[in-house]
Amino acid sequence: MRNRTRVPVTGDDLGTFIREIHAEQRHEHVDYAELRLSPRRFLVDGLSLEEFLQIAHATMQPLESPAIRGILLVNRDSTRDFLEQCTAHLDDLPATFVGVDLAGDESRYPDVTAFRDLFTAAKAIGLGVTVHAGEFGDLDGVWRALDELGAQRLGHALAAVRSPSLLKRLRDDKVLVEVSLSSNLMLGAVASVALHPVRVFFDAGIPVSFNTDIPIESRSTLPAELALAARLLGLTTEEVVAVQRGVARFVFRTAER
Ligand SMILES: [Zn+2]
Repeated sequence: MRNRTRVPVTGDDLGTFIREIHAEQRHEHVDYAELRLSPRRFLVDGLSLEEFLQIAHATMQPLESPAIRGILLVNRDSTRDFLEQCTAHLDDLPATFVGVDLAGDESRYPDVTAFRDLFTAAKAIGLGVTVHAGEFGDLDGVWRALDELGAQRLGHALAAVRSPSLLKRLRDDKVLVEVSLSSNLMLGAVASVALHPVRVFFDAGIPVSFNTDIPIESRSTLPAELALAARLLGLTTEEVVAVQRGVARFVFRTAER
């Protein structure tokens, strides 16, 4: 973000990015995709939050096969002003936005108090709530995502496998763990793919989905993630596809707002 040599991004780039993802997802035979969209870079480069949301909406709305829906990504290092802007925009959030996500450095910003108002308000109007927790952060971060932010889905949640009581909570409350195998490996969240704890979630009866997370960096595709998951879980690719289809009920979809 503070790299002064980087090329500024514009609203056109946002549109292009979404359309490229759509083409890529179509190519991978995906029938519905949720895309985490972070306004931060665009706001730094001069777009207003309103413009960001409208451009993303106008781009996503006509797209079909797959439909693309947005999750508003809020970074843990966000300013109070930005969070207030997000909260203020919730009521008129374009209908293609179906959820909110908290992401960023869990170790430096473990405290989620500042995000409670936004996430509570989002949930109250029917938006889905997902939180990146336990990727590089500790167990407490996963508990906080559930207890303080009301997460219905968790990004990564790797740390959760160290706690039987937390695993029980995820299973009992049917919290979906969004698993991103290649991303975890590439970013070093797990030392090797064989050490990935997806099997623990799966065996504990916790719903899991498979995701590409950072396809631009990892060059991974959804079919590649599903094939990798099949290997780790000792299932056939068809069985993993069935697992993925089975968690379709966790998609945030367009809330009735
Ligand atoms: Zn992620």
